Amino acid sequence: MRPLAPRIALLAVSCLWIPASCFAWSHDEHSAIADRAMTLLQQQNSPAVTAIAQILPAGATLASIAPCADDIRHPPKGAGATTTCGGLTLAWNSASEPWHFIDEPVSENPASASDMQKYCAGGNCIIGAFHNQLQILTGKAPGDKATALMFVVHLVGDAHQPLHCATQLVLDSSGNPQPDPKRPGKMLSDGGGNAKAVSIPGTTPKYPLEMHSLWDQDMQAADVPGIDLSGASWQSLDPGTTPDAVVAQAAFESFGIARTVIYPNYTDSNAANNPDAMPLASDGVTRIVTPKYQSDMRGLAELRLQLAAVRLAAILDNALAGAPQTGSAPAQSLGSGKGAAVRTPW
Ligand SMILES: [Zn+2]
Repeated sequence: MRPLAPRIALLAVSCLWIPASCFAWSHDEHSAIADRAMTLLQQQNSPAVTAIAQILPAGATLASIAPCADDIRHPPKGAGATTTCGGLTLAWNSASEPWHFIDEPVSENPASASDMQKYCAGGNCIIGAFHNQLQILTGKAPGDKATALMFVVHLVGDAHQPLHCATQLVLDSSGNPQPDPKRPGKMLSDGGGNAKAVSIPGTTPKYPLEMHSLWDQDMQAADVPGIDLSGASWQSLDPGTTPDAVVAQAAFESFGIARTVIYPNYTDSNAANNPDAMPLASDGVTRIVTPKYQSDMRGLAELRLQLAAVRLAAILDNALAGAPQTGSAPAQSLGSGKGAAVRTPW
């Protein structure tokens, strides 16, 4: 076991001050969502397939560009104005840091997606960023369509990661939230679980594992390639809804999962009442990831990945193929998630 003091110090340095996007769905998860969405579009003979081919340069695919939004946030010292990722040349964009998440505190209980808007001041959150990038992608606002497509694909994925849409405020000794000295106008928080240490017995992750990165990596200590989203089936966007509403709904669902499942499992160590509760390690800080937790939560995480793929395909079909498709969509299986034959809730 790592010594206690360095562990806490490392967490404080690496995560406590960092917002929910310290990590994201990892590269493989983002690529798997995009790959499945493209397969669904191809199976439907959607005109979006041709549109995407016209937007992307040779060598770039929907799957190759999907993770890139995470790679352009922090230019290394001495970096030039641009970098390359997935076949795209992209400008570094540190201002895009807040675009990957929405910091809704789990102490609150919004009744609807629209109730979360107060944590998206100026549209500077995942919901607002998705809207802005979709406007560029569809030619309603000026900008580079390939970059916008990259953001749209990525942000649909992030909106389905529960810990990108929830955070836990850090309270002072009187129980009051504290301002975040590093982020003017924001409150100090655990950064969507980035400050909550976890460990998987028998594994030695490359970096300290936290609740957030655990969820990013499908309940593994490190990213494991080969995610199977083949159970996600085509479903066109319901008439009457919009891509913006779909992403807001995804964020609302994600928040609900974080508030009612993920955070309680972390803070409640009473296994008699909650079989998915994470036991406290002997260091008094770290929570243990049990095989049962991995097994049960992986089903939930993979359901979110499948929903992201179905919704991404429908959004791109809607945005790049003209008018929304109408007609009845069959009920579908979303594969290995716990709930079989689940229809996508738009
Ligand atoms: Zn991200």
